[in-house]
Amino acid sequence: MQTPTSSDVIIIGGGIAGMVAANRAAQLGLKAIVLEQGSAEKYLCNTRYTGGTFHLCLREITLDPELLHQLIVETTDGFVKDDLARLLANGGTKLIQWLQGEGIRFMRASASEYHKWVLAPPGRSRPGLDWEGRGGDVLLRTLEAQLVKRGGSLTRGVKAQSLISENGRCVGVVAQHQGKVCEWRGRAVVIADGGFQCNPELMEKYVSKQPGRMKQRNGGTAFGDGMRMAQALGAAITGTNRFYGHVLSKDALTNDMLWPYPYLDALVTAGIVVSKEGQRYTDEGRGGVSVANAVATLDDPLSSTCIFDHAIWEGPGRNGLIAANPHLVKEDATVFEAGDLDALAAKAGLNAPALKQTVADYNAALAASGDATEFKPADGISRRSKKYKAMPIVKPPFYAVPMVSGITYTMGGIVINAYAQALREDGSVIEGLYAAGAATGGLEGGPQIGYVGGLAKSGITGLAAAEHVVQRLGK
Ligand SMILES: Cc1cc2nc3c(=O)[nH]c(=O)nc-3n(C[C@H](O)[C@H](O)[C@H](O)COP(=O)(O)OP(=O)(O)OC[C@H]3O[C@@H](n4cnc5c(N)ncnc54)[C@H](O)[C@@H]3O)c2cc1C
Repeated sequence: MQTPTSSDVIIIGGGIAGMVAANRAAQLGLKAIVLEQGSAEKYLCNTRYTGGTFHLCLREITLDPELLHQLIVETTDGFVKDDLARLLANGGTKLIQWLQGEGIRFMRASASEYHKWVLAPPGRSRPGLDWEGRGGDVLLRTLEAQLVKRGGSLTRGVKAQSLISENGRCVGVVAQHQGKVCEWRGRAVVIADGGFQCNPELMEKYVSKQPGRMKQRNGGTAFGDGMRMAQALGAAITGTNRFYGHVLSKDALTNDMLWPYPYLDALVTAGIVVSKEGQRYTDEGRGGVSVANAVATLDDPLSSTCIFDHAIWEGPGRNGLIAANPHLVKEDATVFEAGDLDALAAKAGLNAPALKQTVADYNAALAASGDATEFKPADGISRRSKKYKAMPIVKPPFYAVPMVSGITYTMGGIVINAYAQALREDGSVIEGLYAAGAATGGLEGGPQIGYVGGLAKSGITGLAAAEHVVQRLGK
């Protein structure tokens, strides 16, 4: 073991959560060290790949906190505890202003309210990965430069392995660095390692029987180390069976131009999703994140197909900055097209009589519902289309797109309070231990898999952790 390196606060992970926490702590007078497992100058992580839209529940992040609070509670069906919902709702404007003060630039990416606060420069409107020199990359480089100016540091190639606990308090981290086991000692530790989506065992335990049949729609760097380390110190975890992601063309498994964009959400929510047997099995009206979760829980997550007609293809199919239409076709994704449902089923390998019945039931229930936001086709699976309008499947040609569930980050993780302190099962605080960003649980998810917002959650909890560490430790 090497001689321990000491600091006031040690942060595990150099994504937005970790870099915000480190900078805020350093700005308030503490010595902050970030330990980052990636060794490249531009080490990968979800923040490096991000689309860059700061929002809360897909609404503008600086709206009235009371409205945002209500939205968070509604979106997660009350799963997010009140103190955490308030932390997020009150934290949006502060986060944007603080980041601007750090030199981070935002721009409006479209006329939609959702796109008001997007990291500049935004990704170009083209399929596939596009991160170098884009908003997330610039944000990380800017925050690292700020940290160094403040006397802090980011050390690359350090893989945190376990936490050091003394007298019930977390006082450091044991990590692998350049082939050696090293200790970093401090007065507080912030876990910001980005979740567990890339850990097959944890994914199988919590999310999908077949994680290998899902698409990793992320930076490939989150292995649940932070959650495991925190649990070893007695931390509780929550919400681990939910994730944020999108439905993608199945071909995204082999074609890098089909992820992270375009995704199929607009087609899925306007049309229907069927199993190999040609039957619906989920409420498409809850949105793409919910459908991605439903697909992941199937015995075979690669057995679903999205069905829609020409009006959907030419309507919602063209929505979004990197729309499914025309990008799926341009990038060689499998899109089956046929003049009738029998021929479509034959091409897509689906049960034709069942598919025809499913579409007929769906169309009939939709027609009978008039403008109602909820309706129940004969298969009994109700369709909530508050946000996403269901459309009939009547206008040829008809289309079928085989799907895969793309996971971006796990929504569950370490239970925290509104100061981002890690909590035990009985609600008591583990002194000296904090969690921020996608490493946390209890800020998103719930029965209907409410998506609150990855960047907002990470930035706001990063600020909260740093400010509480300073308050506890003094300058
Ligand atoms: C393609 C894409 C588009 C997205 N678009 C949006 C969007 O528009 N709006 C939005 O709100 N969200 C979006 N997100 C999600 C958002 O980017 C993430 O939720 C957010 O960046 C997570 O930040 P984080 O700091 O928690 O994790 P990360 O950015 O993943 O950082 C975690 C870091 O911890 C490091 N680490 C892990 N384990 C260890 C260890 N043992 N020791 C040391 N270091 C470790 C990792 O290497 C990584 O650098 C998107 C994500 C992706 C992938």
